[in-house]
Amino acid sequence: MTRPAGRDPLLQMALRVEQDIFLVRQRGREVAAAVGLEHQDQVRLATALSEVARDLLRAVGGADVTFVLDRDPRTGQSVLRVDLAPARPLPDGRYQPQSGAVARLVDMLGVVTDGDDTVVRMSRRVPAQAEPLTPERLAQLRAELASSAPGTAMDELATQNAQLISALDEVRSQRDELEVLNSELQETNHGVMALYNQLTEELEETNRGVVALYAELDEKSAQLRAASESKSRFLANVSHELRAPVTAIIGLSRLLADSASDPLTAEQARQVGLIRSSSADLLGLVNELLDLAKAESGRIEPTWAEVDLRGLFGQLRGTLRALATRPAVELVVEEPPAPATVRSDEVLLAQVLRNLLHNGLKFTERGEVRLRAERRGDLWSLSVTDTGAGIPPELHERIFEEFYQVPGTTRVGGTGLGLPYARRLVTLLGGTLELTSEPGAGSTFTVVLPVGGA
Ligand code: ADP
Repeated sequence: MTRPAGRDPLLQMALRVEQDIFLVRQRGREVAAAVGLEHQDQVRLATALSEVARDLLRAVGGADVTFVLDRDPRTGQSVLRVDLAPARPLPDGRYQPQSGAVARLVDMLGVVTDGDDTVVRMSRRVPAQAEPLTPERLAQLRAELASSAPGTAMDELATQNAQLISALDEVRSQRDELEVLNSELQETNHGVMALYNQLTEELEETNRGVVALYAELDEKSAQLRAASESKSRFLANVSHELRAPVTAIIGLSRLLADSASDPLTAEQARQVGLIRSSSADLLGLVNELLDLAKAESGRIEPTWAEVDLRGLFGQLRGTLRALATRPAVELVVEEPPAPATVRSDEVLLAQVLRNLLHNGLKFTERGEVRLRAERRGDLWSLSVTDTGAGIPPELHERIFEEFYQVPGTTRVGGTGLGLPYARRLVTLLGGTLELTSEPGAGSTFTVVLPVGGA
């Protein structure tokens, strides 16, 4: 009889006729029980064994069956191994169980070639908690198995029936467990649904709150917009109404001082002069207010055109030279790099730059005020840099508020409306107006405009 070299077999038997299938099955279960496999595993192994035995009997006329207690070389765990050495060579040297489920009943099932011997081998792990198999115990097992007389086919049938019943029992108890699990699952589902509903309700409520808040916010911003519009309208109306009388006062005081009029005493001439200069200041303020109100109410519509920056810079150089009265301050207007064009409103842009240059000249005691243009990709950066007193960082935004003037700078005159107006205009032109400045290190106001306009 062929058997793989190695451990001593627990039991060997021949499979040659139909009836042997029952015997192999029965002995298989006995061996499995003897080495400590659990009941379910005993049945699984016995079932797999009888299936394979049937296949081999039909295909190759039988096999020699050897039961061996082996050790898994990887895990060191005990395994029960059954080798079925076919009576005739397997077709193509291969074996495939008739039913695919058979392989799942054991840990390993397949054809193994060991030297000249080819066997169909199956194995199943022996649980760690099984009684340890000492050499004495093994010898005892061998003796027991050798002496126990195999029962008849009828006995095996009866055993099989009993096993079937216990398997059925197990299926039933598993089904009961499943039912319990199912009902628990349903309960959990109910819980989850309830929680979900509660969350949905809370979410809806929160949503309603948010929607209400937004509605309130919309209403408030509409009110704010309306208030701001009416402020601008008021400013525009008042300044417009003031312009005529102030202009009249200036005209009248000029008439009074005219040499063609009755001569004035020196004191009267001084007072008329005061009226004239105060009225001129007032007219300046009224005009700035009117400009700002117009810009805020959106009544200024830029007239878009290709603006030649060189021309514009030249014009500013000319007009502002008159204002650069301090000998210690130089006004430098650089030549913009070609192609020096930008799509913008020339009048508004000139107004902004004039305002910035004027401020620079006003607030610089010595050094220079410089206007330069730089092209960066799709943007023009037009900057006015001075060497004046500079502005503390915390006031960089405040100076863009209406009427704000840095304390201590008011003696040079002005209204505090120039920068907010300039920023409005730059925004209308699609750009930004930013400031970088350090006290004592001068200031740079930069207008950044898109080359192609807003
Ligand atoms: P105004 O010049 O009529 O006072 P602006 O809005 O143009 O009003 O400027 C607001 C304030 O910002 C000025 O009063 C001044 O205190 C400060 N400021 C503006 N430009 C400069 C500058 N180049 N250097 C220092 N301070 C400046």
